Amino acid sequence: MCGIVGYVGKRNALPVVMDGLRALEYRGYDSVGVALWDGAKIKFEKTIGRVASLEEKIARKPWEGKSAIAHTRWATHGKPSDRNAHPHFDCTKSIFLVHNGIVENFSELREALLREGHNFNSDTDTEILAHLIERPFLAAQKKILLEDAVLEGLRHVNGTFGLAVMSKNDPEKIVVARRGSPIILGIGIGEYIVASDASAVVNITKNVVYLHDNEAAALMPSGVQIFNLPDGKASLSKKILKKQIDTIDWDIAQAQKGGFKHFMQKEIFEGPSALENVLRGRLLDLPSALSGGGGGGIKLGGIAQIKEKLLSAKRLLILACGTSYYAGLIGKYYFEEFAKIPTACEYASEFRYANPAIDSETAVILISQSGETADTLEAMREAKRKSALTLGIVNVVGSTIARESDAGVYNHAGPEIGVASTKAFISQLGALAMLALFLGKEKNTVSPALSEKIVKELKGLPNKMKRVLGKDEEIRKLAEKYLKHKNFLYLGRKYQYPVALEGALKLKEISYRHAEGYASGEMKHGPIALIDENFPTVALAVKDPIYEKTISNIQEIKARNGKVLAVATDGDEKIGKLADDVIFIPQTLEILNPILSVIPLQLFAYHTADLLGLDVDKPRNLAKSVTVE
Ligand code: GLU
Repeated sequence: MCGIVGYVGKRNALPVVMDGLRALEYRGYDSVGVALWDGAKIKFEKTIGRVASLEEKIARKPWEGKSAIAHTRWATHGKPSDRNAHPHFDCTKSIFLVHNGIVENFSELREALLREGHNFNSDTDTEILAHLIERPFLAAQKKILLEDAVLEGLRHVNGTFGLAVMSKNDPEKIVVARRGSPIILGIGIGEYIVASDASAVVNITKNVVYLHDNEAAALMPSGVQIFNLPDGKASLSKKILKKQIDTIDWDIAQAQKGGFKHFMQKEIFEGPSALENVLRGRLLDLPSALSGGGGGGIKLGGIAQIKEKLLSAKRLLILACGTSYYAGLIGKYYFEEFAKIPTACEYASEFRYANPAIDSETAVILISQSGETADTLEAMREAKRKSALTLGIVNVVGSTIARESDAGVYNHAGPEIGVASTKAFISQLGALAMLALFLGKEKNTVSPALSEKIVKELKGLPNKMKRVLGKDEEIRKLAEKYLKHKNFLYLGRKYQYPVALEGALKLKEISYRHAEGYASGEMKHGPIALIDENFPTVALAVKDPIYEKTISNIQEIKARNGKVLAVATDGDEKIGKLADDVIFIPQTLEILNPILSVIPLQLFAYHTADLLGLDVDKPRNLAKSVTVE
C-alpha cells in the first residue's frame, strides 16, 4: 500500500520520480507529493488527488535536481488532504520524508515532541518521523550524517515503515529504511533508484537489492551503503552489510496496459498465460508405463527440501486475505479431497489475534499475490513462533513472505497492477491444485490414473479459458442489461461457493454495487428473504455432482420472482429454461471448474464498473498490496 520512489544520480531526478509515481499509483492514490534537492535547497509540492494533479501543479516549474523523493498515499492517519500528503518535513524544513506504514506509538511521540517545542503541519503519524530525525541534528548542531540521524530517530518508533528521507543538512543523499513495508534498491551505473516495488525501478535498471526488515541504506551518486538498524533501543552502532544483487526477470512492457483500456481487463485476458506459467515445468505427464507408474506427477522444486516434514503434517492451515482467501477456501477442498489431510482456511487478519492452537505438526500455507500483505506476513510470523512449517504461495519474487517462509511455490504470473486481483486468483488455484495432487500422490490417496487425468486436463485448460474469454462481448451486453440493479446475490455450492464469494467481491470492489456471496444451500436459511424482481442472483450452476441441488436452489429463486443469471456448462439444456440469462463455459473436471467459472464473473464485474464510468484500476478507498494491518 502506498508508493514510495526516490532517485539520486546523473539525470534530472524530477521526471524519474514522476515516472515512478505513475508506475506505483495503483498502490495508493488519495494524495501525492514530491521533494527535490536542486543544489541549493529542497523544493516540494504536494496535493490531494492523483499523480495527474501533481503534474498539473509542477508543470510550469522548471525544477531540476539530482535527487528527489516522491509518494502516492493511502491514508491511515489523517484524512486525504494537501497538508496530509507526503513528503512531510520538520520544523525548519530541513528534513523531508515519505513513508509507508504506521507509527503505532504516534500519540505518545507527538505529545512528547510538542512538549519539546516542535510544531506540526499535518495530522499524520508520518510527520513524527521528520521531527524525530530533526532532533539529533539539533543536538549535534548539524554535524551528523543523515543516516545516523535516521537511525537515532527510528529508535523511538513502534510500528512499521518503509521510509525515504532527504535533508539539506546532508544533501544529494537519500536514506531509506525498512521495517514491515517493502523497499527495493535499483542499482544503476552512477545512479540509484529506490521504490516500494519493482514496477518503478525497471525503467532505470533491472539490477536490484531487496532490503530486508530492519535494514537501511544510504544512497549517493558515488555509491550505496547498506546497513542494519541497530537492535533494541539502546545501541546505535550500525553494521555494514554486503547484499546480493538480483535481476528482475520481466520488463516494463509487462507492467503496461498493452492496448487494453484497463490493467484489470488486460490481466483477466492474461488468465490463460498465468495458468500456463504456474504449471510450466511442474507437470510430469509421461504415460504411467514410462515413468514407473508415476505419470501425472507433480514436481515442485520449492518444496523439495521440506517434503518429509510436509508429508508428516497432521493438519494444514491456509491463511490469506481477500481474493487469496477465496482461493484458499478452494484449496481446502483440494487438500481434503486429494490428500485426505484435515485442512482449515482462515483470514490471516483474524488468525494472529485468536491465540491459535497450532504446533509443529501443522503446516501453514500463506497465500499472497504481493508477498507483502501485512496481515498475512504477521500471521506467518506467528505461525513460525508456534513452530509450524510455513509455505508461501506468492507471486512477487523476493518478497518478504517468499523469503521468510520455509518453502513455497511461486506463481510467476507477472506483475498484477489492477487493484482487483484476477490472474493471480487463477494462478493460485493452479498452485493449490498442484500442491494437493503432489501430496495425494505421495500419500497414495490419489491413484496414478486420476492424477494423469487431472494433469492432462490442466494442460488443456488455458485453451478452454480462452473460449470463455471469447464471450467478452456477450458478457458486456449482460452487464448492460443488469446495470440498473444495485444489489446482487451470488450463489454456488462446494467448489463453486468460493467462486460465488469471489464474484461478489469483484463486483463490490470496482462497481460499488452491493453483492453478497452465499453458499447456495444457505440461501433458504436467510438471504432468500431479499429476493424479489429487483434483486438478481448470479448462480453458478456448472455440471458437477451437486448440479441437481443447485438447480433446486434456482427454482426456489424463480418461485419468488427473482431474476437469475447463470453460469452453466456447455450442452446444458435444462438451465436455459430456468434462468433468465446463461453464460456457458466448457466442460472440465469438477475440481477445475472454478478456474473457468470465475472468468465470466471477473468480466461481468469489469464491464459493470466500466459501463458505470468508474475508475476500474483504482477503485475508491482501495489500494493494491495491503502493507498495513
Ligand atoms: N500512515 C501514513 C499516512 O497515513 C502512511 C500511509 C501510507 O502507507 O500511504 O500518511
